[in-house]
Formats: sequence, structure tokens, C-alpha cells
Amino acid sequence: MPHCHTLIAALRQQGCRLTPQREMIVEALAHGGCHMTAEEVLEIVRQKTQAVNITTVYRTLDLLVERGLATRTDLGEGRIVYATIRHGPHLHLVCRCCGRVIEADASLLALLGETIHDRYGFTPQLEHIALYGVCRECNETRNT
Ligand SMILES: [Zn+2]
Ligand SMILES: [Zn+2]
Repeated sequence: MPHCHTLIAALRQQGCRLTPQREMIVEALAHGGCHMTAEEVLEIVRQKTQAVNITTVYRTLDLLVERGLATRTDLGEGRIVYATIRHGPHLHLVCRCCGRVIEADASLLALLGETIHDRYGFTPQLEHIALYGVCRECNETRNT
């Protein structure tokens, strides 16, 4: 089954009513790149129909997040990105100086999650995390 159909089926099973516009939004995210902003999703859906606006896109993407089918993270400077859970957990290192985003080893998140769980009995949601800081290049420029 194509990925978008899996997502749509999962939403239906959970009792969500999906308009054709909402289905198109889910499809656009499922078929797009790993990360998409709401604006990018809107652009794709607009190629098929004009009967959709940014509010509907946000509502649908947030619905996917609420239902555990997608994750959302803030990469800074207004870059809120969405990814379906098929892409697995990811960890982004966002440089405050140059804005570069580095993909870090997501297994670090599992380690952090286990440690927090052991110590606090708390299960953190670590599917999609952005950490802000200063990248190696910017650190080197600063120190010279
Ligand atoms: Zn990501
Ligand atoms: Zn940097």
C-alpha cells in the first residue's frame, strides 16, 4: 500500500473525517521530501485545487502529529517542518550563527530517552528534535 494510503487509512480508523482537500494534504506530505513546511505542502496541493488554504494545511498536518502519524520540529527562523513517522526519529543540530542544519545520529536520542526514563520514570517524546547551538565552523571562526 502506498504510504499516503496507509496514513489516510490510519486516520479513518481513528474516526477522522477526511475531506478530499485533507487527503491531498496528507498525500503531499507522504510523497514529498522527508521534511516539508506547511507552505511547501500548500504549493503542491494548489497544483490540483485552489480550494485549500494555509489554515487547512496547518490543521491537517497538526492532526497527523496529534495522531502520532507525523512529527513536527522547529528549525528556527520560522522553519517549522513536518515529516511522517516513516522517516523514523531524527535529531537536528541548528547553528544559531549561520543557520546551517546538521543531521545528527538519531541513536543518540534513544540513549537520552533511556537515561531519562531510568532516572525519572518519564518517557520523553524524542522523535523529532532540534538542538540549537554553534556549529564547528562558526566555533572555529570565533576562536581565531
Ligand atoms: Zn527532521
Ligand atoms: Zn554555523
